[in-house]
Amino acid sequence: MKLDLLAIAAHPDDVELSCGGTLLQMAHSGYKTGILDLTAGEMGTRGTPEIRATEAASAAKLLRVSWRGNLGVPDSDVQPSRQHKLRLASVIRQLRPKTVILPYWEARHPDHYHASTLGYEGCFLAGLKQLPLDGDPHRPFKILYSTVYAQVRPTFVVDITPHFEQRRRAILAYSSQFRPGKGEPTRKFKKANVFLAIDRLEDQMNLLARHFGEMIGVKYGEPFLVKELMQVRDVVNMDVRSI
Ligand SMILES: [Zn+2]
Repeated sequence: MKLDLLAIAAHPDDVELSCGGTLLQMAHSGYKTGILDLTAGEMGTRGTPEIRATEAASAAKLLRVSWRGNLGVPDSDVQPSRQHKLRLASVIRQLRPKTVILPYWEARHPDHYHASTLGYEGCFLAGLKQLPLDGDPHRPFKILYSTVYAQVRPTFVVDITPHFEQRRRAILAYSSQFRPGKGEPTRKFKKANVFLAIDRLEDQMNLLARHFGEMIGVKYGEPFLVKELMQVRDVVNMDVRSI
């Protein structure tokens, strides 16, 4: 399968929360999109890996991605090791994405910043001809870093306004993370304080998407950073009003 856009992140639901609207917008534009989760999220306080896998599959459908896979890296131990990089490079060779979305390279959770490095280095290795791997060499043309949780100024923001509601549904597909399970008393979870209450999650989703949307004069947006400068072909027809 050949993808136009592949989003890579550490845990199932990371992609939904950081760039789900962008994946929807690109699928809407006719591009083939995909998601690679590095871990199964087995260290998550709530839910089991099996539940998370079912939820990830439902979310993938809602985000209209053509492919979703899991690299099988142990949760809480994402490292840019040679073994993981080669496995990632092999997936890149199979999927041949033109653009890849990675988490920003600084974060609170070590899995998130290691996912950034592992993602970049795996993409780089995939292009090396002499690598002892099956498949033709392939290196993505563009790497975008999702900066929704980073304290940095993004390079650009994608307008996700038409897809905000669908992205919300995809995030809420991970219900085991946010609600007590069947037969589990709500009180117990309130006491343990281990799950992000649904109203808090909704607030956070709205606030961040509104904040970045506001920066470009639309309702909802998702921010990204690229290391290279952006080239502009037409300075007469540019988005986002200056005054
Ligand atoms: Zn995560």
